[in-house]
Amino acid sequence: MKLAVYGKGGIGKSTTSCNISVALAKRGKKVLQIGCDPKHDSTFTLTGFLIPTIIDTLQEKDYHYEDVWPEDVIYKGYGGVDCVEAGGPPAGAGCGGYVVGETVKLLKELNAFDEYDVILFDVLGDVVCGGFAAPLNYADYCMIVTDNGFDALFAANRISASVREKSRTHPLRLAGLIGNRTSKRDLIDKYVESVPMPVLEVLPLIEDIRVSRVKGKTLFEMAETDPSLSYVCDYYLNIADQILSQPEGVVPKDAPDRELFSLLSDF
Ligand code: ADP
Ligand code: MG
Repeated sequence: MKLAVYGKGGIGKSTTSCNISVALAKRGKKVLQIGCDPKHDSTFTLTGFLIPTIIDTLQEKDYHYEDVWPEDVIYKGYGGVDCVEAGGPPAGAGCGGYVVGETVKLLKELNAFDEYDVILFDVLGDVVCGGFAAPLNYADYCMIVTDNGFDALFAANRISASVREKSRTHPLRLAGLIGNRTSKRDLIDKYVESVPMPVLEVLPLIEDIRVSRVKGKTLFEMAETDPSLSYVCDYYLNIADQILSQPEGVVPKDAPDRELFSLLSDF
């Protein structure tokens, strides 16, 4: 099963991805997480360091795919989760979609792409061009991380539009929204009333999740020494269990921009 996690920049995609990956591994699945953001920190909380990117490695080997070994690009993270960072194209040039394509091509050459029970693509902010939507070509399910604010929901709506487009030609479904860093969900609820889709989970702002980024540890690893954190792990296990039950998901009917403005603001 292939998953793609999308959402506005800084909303918590990588944090959520790492913890969902461990949750899936805890359920006995063989998991690979692929970071597809030029920030290349997707797998930081799994490995505790910034691993070399696929693009860096390919450049080093003059794009001779046959000279690249699995251990050059696939790193073992916490809980047995395998980690890959695609990296980004040169700043201001090239295409993020090309980078994702090269990553998948290399993993296929290494016979790694079909070897996993779950591959999770941790993508990036708003889908502003086809390149950003490239991971959707490979995904069975898209999940969108959002808070209870206008900007993240606006991005969520754009991502939904991309899912709608891709689902014409790919067996792709939107599994739903993950609310993050918010105790309120009134705008999230308003949005899903207008654009029906499941809300998989809503996580509040939790200081230990913020700290987990600095420590380079998932909540599961932190809970080993502080069992009081197991309630946070339960949020991620719940999301993992919903995905493993292979939900029907939706092909979303995104809202027109103007409608979204009036829906989510007071004027
Ligand atoms: P993204 O990948 O979307 O850019 P990150 O996962 O890097 O975002 O998260 C950005 C910051 O927000 C990190 O420092 C992370 O620890 C913090 N964070 C994410 N989710 C939560 C949460 N529920 N509570 C508190 N801090 C969070
Ligand atoms: Mg990220």
